[in-house]
Amino acid sequence: MPLVRYRKVVILGYRSVGKTSLAHQFVEGEFLEGYDPTVENTYSKIVTLGKDEFHLHLVDTAGQDEYSILPYSFIIGVHGYVLVYSVTSLHSFQVIESLYQKLHEGHGKTRLPVVLVGNKADLSPDREVQAIEGKKLAESWGATFIESSARENQLTQSIFTKVIQEIARVENSYGQE
Ligand code: GDP
Repeated sequence: MPLVRYRKVVILGYRSVGKTSLAHQFVEGEFLEGYDPTVENTYSKIVTLGKDEFHLHLVDTAGQDEYSILPYSFIIGVHGYVLVYSVTSLHSFQVIESLYQKLHEGHGKTRLPVVLVGNKADLSPDREVQAIEGKKLAESWGATFIESSARENQLTQSIFTKVIQEIARVENSYGQE
């Protein structure tokens, strides 16, 4: 019997970047038209990676800005993060940089399992953030970078499998299970 490991992952980012759409696409396999500001919602899904099974518990948050104070519940007991900006909003990218700094401090500046996501890649004509900028930022954190589209279901699954892999990578680098 494979061991089912529990993984709690929090999705953070500025409002309207597609956090809910990505979580919904991943769990329900469909795209929601229209903007429904999330209060806070959780999703659960069993994810199989090779021989391992993970119980992924996703927390979809209401959206933050550079002034947000992150509650303890976003730090304590959280295994990894999906940080989302929209490639059509430079401001949402700037917010991510400040959110990361707050998380990093909240975790005592240890290495964090993070997947940085540039969403709405289908809206390339309206692009304000180039892929290379996202890639560089993620590299500066030692994190994974993905450009996605919740609308076109582009790389949505990869985001959540990558975050599980990132958690394992960071845990192994500390020599823990
Ligand atoms: P959240 O506030 O970050 O959770 O954002 P939502 O998931 O509610 O999405 C905000 C708006 O952007 C909604 O109108 C979505 O339909 C739209 N949206 C989300 N993801 C995408 C995407 O990948 N491409 C496009 N074109 N629109 C998207």
